[in-house]
Amino acid sequence: MLFSGGQDSTTSLFWTLRKFKKVYALSFLYGQKHAHEVDLARQIAEEADVEFQLMDTSFIASLAGNSLTDSSVVMDKEVIPGNLPNTFIPGRNLFFLSIATVFARERGVSDLVTGVSQTDYSGYPDCRDSFIKSLNVTLNLAMEEQFVIYTPLMWLDKTETWALADELGIFNLIRSRTMTCYNGLPADGCGECPACKLRQRGLENYLALKNKK
Ligand code: ZN
Repeated sequence: MLFSGGQDSTTSLFWTLRKFKKVYALSFLYGQKHAHEVDLARQIAEEADVEFQLMDTSFIASLAGNSLTDSSVVMDKEVIPGNLPNTFIPGRNLFFLSIATVFARERGVSDLVTGVSQTDYSGYPDCRDSFIKSLNVTLNLAMEEQFVIYTPLMWLDKTETWALADELGIFNLIRSRTMTCYNGLPADGCGECPACKLRQRGLENYLALKNKK
């Protein structure tokens, strides 16, 4: 499974552990400014007792500039429908999933899991269901295999993702240990960037729903 140590991929990791006996967690260095997210990911993977692998794909940052890898690019504060925010990293999920699939194939694994979602997504085309399904077909053709890419969060909004974390018994771990923030702050983050706002809104909605019950 593709594992960054953020809210979505950590929730997906524990979903994966419920479904599969042997799990590999793959993290990627892609030239991100906040590379310590990898250390947070490694710690969570160790505690979850899954094998952690770090892939160096830092060439991605040299291909195209964006605000997550280049400190000189000022981050877009809002997501404007129809516009790609400059936190988008062209090809990122294409590269990651392709590499993960080769890794899996070498180990006789045909099931892949990624925490992408198109419900509350940030306008990234490579988080959409059509892209994942298309890539799944392409990877099968590329390697003459029958891979299955699972996307447990695809149709969940952030409120439902918090609910799933709670159901999996990892609500506190997600809240206090994962890093979603574009400014590199774990847990509740900076509270200002689009990723924090999305996470926070989902959390508030979920807590309000829970208190009503
Ligand atoms: Zn933030």
